[in-house]
Amino acid sequence: MRAELEQLLILQDRQQKIRQIENEIKNLPLQRKSLETQLAETAASLEAIKHKTRQVEVDRKKLELDVGTRTESINRLKTQQYQTRKNDEFQAIGHEIRRYEDEIRKLEDQELELMEQTDKLKVEVAAEEKKAGAAKDSINRQMADLGEKSKALEARLEELSKERKELAEKMDEDLLDRFERLFASKGDSAIVAVEHGFCTGCHMRLTPATVNDAEAGKEIVNCEQCGRILYVSN
Ligand SMILES: [Zn+2]
Repeated sequence: MRAELEQLLILQDRQQKIRQIENEIKNLPLQRKSLETQLAETAASLEAIKHKTRQVEVDRKKLELDVGTRTESINRLKTQQYQTRKNDEFQAIGHEIRRYEDEIRKLEDQELELMEQTDKLKVEVAAEEKKAGAAKDSINRQMADLGEKSKALEARLEELSKERKELAEKMDEDLLDRFERLFASKGDSAIVAVEHGFCTGCHMRLTPATVNDAEAGKEIVNCEQCGRILYVSN
């Protein structure tokens, strides 16, 4: 029975490793998705600042056009003023011209502000582009690493599955069946050590008879509490 228990322990070790690797493989798409999200966020933040820069430029062009139409109006008014012979009309046109000139000054002040904003935004865009480039490189590297990891895990899984299959083929079918059912239902281990009279699976105290049977090693002994197969290491 000791030899069979030893086989079960090896089998359990391989199955635990298989389970762990399967979990790691299951986790890979989540890690990929997280990297893709990071990449998308970096691109979006770069696009947002570029969009803002374009918007400021559009606003500035509009101000430029507004200045242009007022300049045209002033030129038209100056011609009218030159042609008039009436003093009050001359004054009125002069007043109108000054009103447009005031507006132009305000518009040009705004234009200047927008130009300063554009300069600042250009610096920000450059910084953001640099950041996005570095992030993209880093994310691509991590993606490649994940690809490598995935391949390595698949290879290890195949290796372990083969080992597991070879071990199982040599074992008693009924014992294997009991083990498999326990392994599936317990979630961690199907065969556990007895330590100081306790089951290390459920941490309950075993009866002296059970401990004696386990120590004798003549038959498969199960924990009375959790049902796991017990072994005594010597
Ligand atoms: Zn137990």
